[in-house]
Amino acid sequence: MTGYTTLFLDADGTIFDYDRGERFAMEKSLQHFSIAGNSGNLLELYREINKSIWRDFEQGKISAEDLKIERFRRFATELGVEFDPLNFSRIYLEYLSQATFLLSGARGVLDQLKNNYTMILLTNGLSGVQRNRVRLAEVEDYFRKLIISEEIGVAKPAPGIFEKAWEASGRPPLEEVLMVGDSLESDIKGGMGFGLDTCWLRGEGQEKPPEINPTYIIEEITQLPDILQGRVV
Ligand SMILES: [Mg+2]
Repeated sequence: MTGYTTLFLDADGTIFDYDRGERFAMEKSLQHFSIAGNSGNLLELYREINKSIWRDFEQGKISAEDLKIERFRRFATELGVEFDPLNFSRIYLEYLSQATFLLSGARGVLDQLKNNYTMILLTNGLSGVQRNRVRLAEVEDYFRKLIISEEIGVAKPAPGIFEKAWEASGRPPLEEVLMVGDSLESDIKGGMGFGLDTCWLRGEGQEKPPEINPTYIIEEITQLPDILQGRVV
């Protein structure tokens, strides 16, 4: 057995199948606005834009409020299509907040762990979207609290958001807390920066740079219980 009592779990790419959710929301939004084109290619373009704008947000260059609209303004410009970015954003977020696809095995893992660990959902995301998805997916009860970057005003990897999660979990000794997530940048670096052990859920084909050293590396969320049992995978 390992001595962890508390788990900070990332949401997207860790519990939720975010790729699938994003694809669903984009396809529905493109249909809504009658925008023609290969939805896979358009999604790729949008992902690039979104990634760069979240980076701006993490560096404090743009507010969460502006981010929601600005990414679709850039998307429209890149596409050379005219649509109202505010309206597109509203429709897109509406669909995204309905995207409740969990990663395979995630619910079983939460069920297995719920009685033995204090779990906090620690996510960089928009409040309305994340709360709605957690509620509709019926995973809210597994967590003592949802800590969402838009509500806190800072995002992972900033220590401020880890501090909030730590307070919400009852301020356990830091060595009893394990941060679990799929992002080296926000989850692993952020967790390490706050003094936590970390478990990296490595996506397909992802490589780890030598300077970042998670305590554990897993390929599937279903391996987490084994890690916690001290059975190194
Ligand atoms: Mg993630």
